[in-house]
Order: sequence, then C-alpha cells, then structure tokens
Amino acid sequence: YVSDDPINDVENEVKEWARVKKTEIDALKQQEQFRRDFLGNISHELKTPLFAVQGYIEALQDDAMEDPELAKQFLDKASKNIDRLSLLIKDLDSISKLESGEMQLNYKKFDLTVLIKEVIEQMELKAKSQTIELIFKDKYHIPTLVYADRDKICQVLINLIDNSIKYGKENGTTAIKTFELHDQILVEVTDDGAGIEEKHLPRLFERFFRTDQSRSRQIGGSGLGLAIVKHILEAHQQTITVRSTEGLGSTFAFTLARAKSSFPI
Ligand code: ADP
Repeated sequence: YVSDDPINDVENEVKEWARVKKTEIDALKQQEQFRRDFLGNISHELKTPLFAVQGYIEALQDDAMEDPELAKQFLDKASKNIDRLSLLIKDLDSISKLESGEMQLNYKKFDLTVLIKEVIEQMELKAKSQTIELIFKDKYHIPTLVYADRDKICQVLINLIDNSIKYGKENGTTAIKTFELHDQILVEVTDDGAGIEEKHLPRLFERFFRTDQSRSRQIGGSGLGLAIVKHILEAHQQTITVRSTEGLGSTFAFTLARAKSSFPI
C-alpha cells in the first residue's frame, strides 16, 4: 500500500496518539482527584471523634474529675467516640479490601432464613424500643437456599438493619421479607422511619455520603455502610436498589443467587 499523502497520514497518526494519551491523562487526573477527596474525607471523619475524645480528656484534667457524676458522663462520651473511631477504621479496612479486589468471596450454599434470624437476634439487642421481624409468607419454615458468601451477606444484613434502627423512629418496625424469583432471591428490608429525600437517593451508596439530617442529628455512622453493602453485592454480581417516601419510610431491596439443588451444602 502506497499512500498518496504520507504527510497527512503521519499527521493523523500523531493526532490519534495525542487523543489516546489525553484520555489516559484525564483518567489518571480523575483517579488522583478521587484519591485526594477520599483522603480528605477520611481525615475529616477521623478528626471529629478524635477531637471530641481530646476535649473530654482535657475537661477531666481541668476540674471535671472533682464532680464524679460529670466525670462519669465525660468518660462515657469519650468511650462512645472511641467506639466510633474503631468502627470507622474497621469500615475503611473493609472498603479498601473490597475496592482493591483483595477480598475473596467464599461461596457456599446456605439457608438465608436461618442467617436472617441470627442477625435479627443480634440486632434486637441494639434496637431497644424498635421491633425487627421476618415476615414469612407461609406458616412453616421452608429453607431459602442461596449461593453466596455467608459472612459477607451477614454484613449486608447487619448494615441495612443497623440503618433502619438508626434512622427509624422510636417504637418503629423493621420488616424483612424474602421473595423467590426465577433464579434469584429478593430480600427487602423496610423501615417506617423518616424516609429519604428523593434528591439524595442517587448518591446514597457513595462512600462518605450522609444526608444533612443524619449529620446534624449526630447519629453515629461513617457514611461507609451502604458503600460496603453495594460493593459486596456487586462482587456477587447482584444488585441493590432503594425506594423511599419521606415521612413513611424506606425499603432497601437486594438480590442473591438461588442455590440450585445440585449444589452440595
Ligand atoms: P452511615 O449510616 O454510617 O451514615 P450509610 O452509608 O449506611 O452511612 O448511609 C448513608 C446515609 O444514607 C445515612 O447517613 C443516612 O443519611 C441515609 N440512610 C441510610 N439508610 C437509611 C434509612 N433506612 N432511612 C433513612 N436514611 C437512611
């Protein structure tokens, strides 16, 4: 092949090369921005509880120690903030493992109903005045067999139920339902809390995203819970969606693969 316009060909080739490079550079810049935002968010989230602990310790060093009642209050508050720090660090660890693909999924066949009951028992201790219930469509327990990483799905359920308790109302109810689809199980976690404004719904699963209400009400949380949930389900090639009506409550719905009966337990 002999080109009639070799100079033009070279020029086009150079242009194409420059275009490819520019796309690569833009992607790197975006990644860099992402990383910077992430670090900024982390240090902000770490600072808040850390400064609180520092404040309580300083108050105790000054004269709060002389008032045993006040001293106890401050120690309790410092301890709560330390719990928050530990939780944040644990969440950060999970998210970095999930995002780097380091987290291995340990698939097995298990009965989802048994897992949900275990998680409810564990979360009821935290729920105090709220009720958490698993709604059965039939009176008898028929196993709901799924094929997934049991520990990770346990984490998904804990994070969702924890939110429904945190953002739910006093004496509220969280209902968990499962539905059998063709080759999937659909799990719904519904609360009757304050709900979420529609404009926030698309950003809910972003890491560190929290609505202003939850920040201002000082409800403990890292803003990582739902990002972790989404990552875990995506790693399973499953999905999660949310629907919510302000004033009425929210429903988080996710899918899991149904275990085929030929899978060994
Ligand atoms: P965290 O609870 O640690 O703030 P999440 O990632 O679990 O972080 O949730 C992100 C935000 O989504 C919360 O801060 C809250 O504003 C909102 N949210 C999550 N679940 C619910 C719910 N069940 N009802 C109302 N708002 C919710």
